[in-house]
Amino acid sequence: MIHRRDPGATWSGNHRYRATEVLLPSDLVELAEVVASAGTLRVQATRHTFNDVADSGAALVSLERLPTRVEVIGDRVRVEGLVTFAQLAPVIEAEGRALHNLGSLPHISVAGATATGTHGSGVRNGNLSSAVRALDIMDADGHTHHVDQAHAWFPAAAIGLGAFGVVTAVELQTEPSYQVTQQAYTGVAWDDIAGDPERVFGGSRSVSVFTTWGDPAHDMVWVKSDDGAPDWVEELGGRPVGDDIHLGRIRTVDNTTPRGTPGPWHTRLPHFRADALPSDGDEIQTEYFVPLASAREALAVVKAVAPAFDAQLLVSELRTVAADELWLSPAYQRDVLAIHFTWRNDTDGVLGVLPSIEAALAPFDVRPHWGKAFTMPGNAVRATLTRVDDFLAAAREADPRGVFRNDFLRRTLGL
Ligand SMILES: Cc1cc2nc3c(=O)[nH]c(=O)nc-3n(C[C@H](O)[C@H](O)[C@H](O)COP(=O)(O)OP(=O)(O)OC[C@H]3O[C@@H](n4cnc5c(N)ncnc54)[C@H](O)[C@@H]3O)c2cc1C
Repeated sequence: MIHRRDPGATWSGNHRYRATEVLLPSDLVELAEVVASAGTLRVQATRHTFNDVADSGAALVSLERLPTRVEVIGDRVRVEGLVTFAQLAPVIEAEGRALHNLGSLPHISVAGATATGTHGSGVRNGNLSSAVRALDIMDADGHTHHVDQAHAWFPAAAIGLGAFGVVTAVELQTEPSYQVTQQAYTGVAWDDIAGDPERVFGGSRSVSVFTTWGDPAHDMVWVKSDDGAPDWVEELGGRPVGDDIHLGRIRTVDNTTPRGTPGPWHTRLPHFRADALPSDGDEIQTEYFVPLASAREALAVVKAVAPAFDAQLLVSELRTVAADELWLSPAYQRDVLAIHFTWRNDTDGVLGVLPSIEAALAPFDVRPHWGKAFTMPGNAVRATLTRVDDFLAAAREADPRGVFRNDFLRRTLGL
């Protein structure tokens, strides 16, 4: 018998799923039965999205009862089932392997994070989807397709937003394990950050800037480097923060990864520790991507409209993502600056301020984060995606009956 449960809400509680139920198959045979008998179905993974991308007008399916497996095969790692980066990382580290980057938290699922283009920071680091080398995707008839880089669907399916079917396995590129030292600094002037973003973001392996767009006490540069304390931050006046770190108006409570000492990549690249609640918890997130070449101008226009959204803001984080070749990627064929907002958990208030930011960034070919809140209409989203028609054609071929489509895909992509 296939178990069922209530769909509940997203991790932060900002979106209550409209789906009727979550089906919980316990193996691939039961999963095939679930998909083959569904009229409409979406996958719910670790629920760390802030919109209805994962929702369904009918049922959801979760892989949480399926067996999991993490296997290093040559220079790749293959994960099967609902596996998080927190579960994956120590297994590959034990075999001397690493991923090229991680997001700010390891609690998220590999399949869900890569399906939405989740990223960390670094001018030479692509998003986490750029490490995907193959996917096993179960279609609406219960058949599994191995979609590797030679497959015609690959550049669409690697950031597939769940539109191709149920991803039952993901293979990621790995590299030899490495050590990272991180430190967070206050005292770097906003004008130095916004005036020379190449120097700041290109200074080390991964650089994040936290800001509330006005109060210098909230401006913080968080650096993750291969070679200890980097000179460039201190040359810009940066001073390491003490133990009591806070991110803008979020006071973190013993939940961040160790600073000031070297450690294996997976213990330093995420800001938040796997054993603690990340970020604030009571929040909504939004993120926009603009070409890195336009960073100065884009930062200036957001700063100009910041008074209009200040009451909603907990903190912003600025990061960079290297270009890739995935059709729905915010970094498709362009290096990008990622402008992130952590908001108070007030849906109406947040939806009220987003249009002014989106209008300010519109001249920069702005693309939204697929897993976060945005109000850009579908035609504006599609206008920036040069390969959207190729994506739609591949998704229709993979799912001709439209079983894996939902309101989000119809509204934003016209699928
Ligand atoms: C505190 C916090 C910090 C965050 N930090 C970052 C960050 O640093 N960088 C960043 O880019 N994002 C960040 N995010 C956003 C987050 O990484 C993305 O929204 C991601 O999609 C979450 O994945 P999930 O599996 O938890 O989400 P879910 O909502 O469960 O799934 C996401 C999407 O993937 C699909 N999906 C999931 N599993 C499968 C599957 N097996 N087969 C087919 N489709 C599937 C779902 O249908 C849905 O459309 C953060 C979120 C939170 C809450």
